[in-house]
Formats: sequence, structure tokens, C-alpha cells
Amino acid sequence: VLCASQDFDFFYFVQQWPGAYCDTKHSCCYPKSGKPAADFGIHGLWPNYKDGSYPSNCDPDSVFDKSEISELMGSLEKSWPSMSCPSSNGYRFWSHEWEKHGTCSESELDQKDYFQAGLKLKEKANLLQALKKAGIKPDDELYSLESIVEAIKEGVGHAPGIECNKDSAGNSQLYQVYLCVDTSGQDIIECPILPKGRCASTIQFPKF
Ligand code: 5GP
Ligand code: 5GP
Ligand code: 5GP
Repeated sequence: VLCASQDFDFFYFVQQWPGAYCDTKHSCCYPKSGKPAADFGIHGLWPNYKDGSYPSNCDPDSVFDKSEISELMGSLEKSWPSMSCPSSNGYRFWSHEWEKHGTCSESELDQKDYFQAGLKLKEKANLLQALKKAGIKPDDELYSLESIVEAIKEGVGHAPGIECNKDSAGNSQLYQVYLCVDTSGQDIIECPILPKGRCASTIQFPKF
């Protein structure tokens, strides 16, 4: 049976704060290239539907081919590092993101375009700078969720979705920032639907 999941309405462009990923029950491991900079890293570019559901693993025949992204390697290591264990060079994470999500937007972006789109979006959406401008820094302090949303809205031009996780002490902390992107993978847009964030009204911005 043919799956009608090649079309989608928009992308979530998701960036993760490594200090929160490393502060969960799951351990984290730095990539083989070393500890990433204290900056948000790309998690993924995820095709989504306006009702909040999403397609996944759309083309089992389109396997990840690292030769297609050889020119992007340096930038991917810097901006799209994998924080999971065991320590890796990133290929496992990128291959997962391509096969689960990227194959669902193949009508718009081939594999190289897909990763390049993620890298360009990260340049357009400098979260750390937007937050810094509002006096919000990764210093283990608590900030209101609203102030974080407003700072990103001001700096990036569109309201983000914020996802929190809990540290070992149970504090709600800033984990991922979702921005919405049009189907070309280029322009940040207002989100048709925001993801469920599970944040408290005041959240910690952990050090990394
Ligand atoms: P979690 O269980 O942490 O919410 O999500 C696990 C995985 O499901 C994510 O890494 C991502 O691949 C996928 N996922 C979760 N929420 C969304 C969403 O709103 N849109 C899309 N496209 N994928 C999602
Ligand atoms: P949540 O309850 O956070 O929306 O979803 C929990 C998990 O269910 C997500 O992490 C994701 O793995 C899965 N999930 C939720 N919605 C969808 C969907 O529309 N499609 C797929 N493939 N998985 C989903
Ligand atoms: P998702 O399915 O949510 O798009 O991606 C989550 C998968 O990627 C999980 O299997 C996770 O182990 C793997 N992964 C590898 N590196 C990272 C990382 O730095 N952050 C996250 N969230 N997942 C990673």
C-alpha cells in the first residue's frame, strides 16, 4: 500500500541545549571531535502536519549516504553534534535524522540540501544571541518561560515552541527550541501549531 506521507505542511527546526541533554537521566557523551561549544546544536529538521501529527521513515530505499555530505562535515560537526552515548562522529545521528525525517521531505530537499538547510537555518536563528540580548544566559539561573519566548520572538522574528526536561533534582529546564519553517526549508514562519512543551512557568537555563 502506498503511503501518502510524502507531502507535509511545514518543518519544525529543532535546536537542543547540550547542557540540558547532559543533565537528564540518560547520560551524554561528547562527540569524537571533542566537547561542542556552549551553544545550541541542531537536533533536526522535521516535516510536520498542521494538525500536529507527522510522517516518519517515508522512504526505506533512501539510505543515508555520507559521501553526499562530505563537504558539510566540518559544519555539521560544529553545529549538529551528537550528544548521545556511546561517543560517535555524528554519522549515526545524522543517518537517523535523514532516514526518520529527511526522507519525508525528499520531494523538496535531497540529502545534501536537507543538511545544508539545517545549517543555514541555524545561522538565521541565533538563539544564544537573541537570549543574551535579553540578559538570559546559561548560568543555572531561573528565567520565566515567557521571557525566553519573548527574547527569541524579538531576535528571530517568530515565536518559538519551548520544550523542557527535568534535571536530576526535578527542576524544569530549557531543553529544545522549536521554530517553524516553510516547506522549502528556507524561511522561518509563524508556527501553525506549537508542540507540547511540558515547561513550568519558571525554568532553569543550565550551564554547559
Ligand atoms: P519525544 O518522545 O522525545 O517527544 O520524541 C521522540 C522523537 O519523536 C523525536 O526525536 C522526533 O524524532 C519525533 N518527534 C517528537 N515530536 C515530534 C513532532 O512534533 N514532530 C515531528 N516531526 N517529530 C516529532
Ligand atoms: P507525545 O505524546 O509527546 O505527542 O508523543 C509521544 C511520542 O509518540 C513521540 O515522541 C513520538 O515518538 C510519538 N508520536 C506522537 N505523534 C506521532 C505522530 O504523529 N507520528 C509518529 N510517527 N509518532 C508520533
Ligand atoms: P529523534 O527520533 O527524536 O529525531 O532523534 C532521537 C534519536 O537520535 C535517539 O535515538 C537518540 O539516541 C539519537 N541521538 C543521537 N544524538 C543525539 C543528540 O545529540 N540529541 C538527541 N536528542 N538525540 C540524539
